[in-house]
Amino acid sequence: MKPLLQVRDLRVTFDLGRHGRLTAVDGVSFDLARGEFVALVGESGSGKSTTALALIRLVPPPGFISGGRLLWWEDEGPVDLLRLSASQMRERRWRDIAMIFQGAQNALNPVMRIAEQMIETMRAHHSMPRGEILERAARCLRMVRLEPSRVLRAYPHELSGGMRQRVLIAMSLLMNPRLLILDEPTTALDVITQAHILEILREIQEQLGLTMLLLTHDLAVVAKTARRVLIMYAGQIVEEAPTEALFEAPYHPYTRGLLQAMPTLRGDLAGKRPIPGAPPDLRHPPPGCRFHPRCPYASEICRQLEPALEEAGGRRVACHHWQQVAQEVLAPEPYG
Ligand code: ADP
Ligand code: MG
Repeated sequence: MKPLLQVRDLRVTFDLGRHGRLTAVDGVSFDLARGEFVALVGESGSGKSTTALALIRLVPPPGFISGGRLLWWEDEGPVDLLRLSASQMRERRWRDIAMIFQGAQNALNPVMRIAEQMIETMRAHHSMPRGEILERAARCLRMVRLEPSRVLRAYPHELSGGMRQRVLIAMSLLMNPRLLILDEPTTALDVITQAHILEILREIQEQLGLTMLLLTHDLAVVAKTARRVLIMYAGQIVEEAPTEALFEAPYHPYTRGLLQAMPTLRGDLAGKRPIPGAPPDLRHPPPGCRFHPRCPYASEICRQLEPALEEAGGRRVACHHWQQVAQEVLAPEPYG
């Protein structure tokens, strides 16, 4: 598969003044191939949103990108997005890479009809006649299974949460981006609306051959959409695998913990076992493996030596004991 974006050793630092400094994204590397649907998964605070914002160079202060490369592939070869000027980057945002921000369905302008918001979004990047924009808007709304004649006239409050989220997806498609990043697109929605939106996303992704990066804390969402998964913990990628393989046999104890915290795995809430403990304070990450204080497999080496993210049979994993974890996959109770 042809690469679209190669993220290399990406770092994002927050300078908190007298409260110290933290590296919210710490040496993250992964590839997105053209037309792929990839999920970035981790608990709240693991660095998903910050990673995504770095990809479009919109990390809010006091955060800044403190290292790495973002190789964006064109037919002629790669361009490092981090080397572009601010105005060159602005041109690519939404046109090459669009992002739907976490909670954005509540950020639509309440006093503006959807039509005007779509026109405004488009006009910020292209000078195009109103009629032409509306035609395009209608096409994008139909792709997310909304009725343009009704929705274009509506104000945000006249639409349900699920419809607003679909409007945002339609808006992000206006400029025909090559990469669409979705940050927790279904988190605030009920399960049925969630399933509907995920189905629409998969459909659009296939129809348009769009590359999608979906950020979520919820592995159930991943199972319904992505072909490949990146697992993030405390600012680092700890595992990467094709979705099916990951669900079948997680190699990282953290992934295994996430799977066991899923209610649907056992079909009942009673079987759900959250990972004990909490993610570390990133100003003072634990030495060695960052997950070791919460890990049932941790041994001396884990407390001292940071495991590298290594190739393991077409996957990647950062754990000193991954072979043991992979083998024990069917054992019932690693977290007691
Ligand atoms: P996620 O999207 O996985 O929930 P975030 O990327 O939002 O995680 O946050 C990752 C970490 O980055 C947080 O745990 C926090 O330590 C730090 N962080 C994010 N935004 C800020 C900010 N504005 N100021 C200080 N720290 C921040
Ligand atoms: Mg987030």
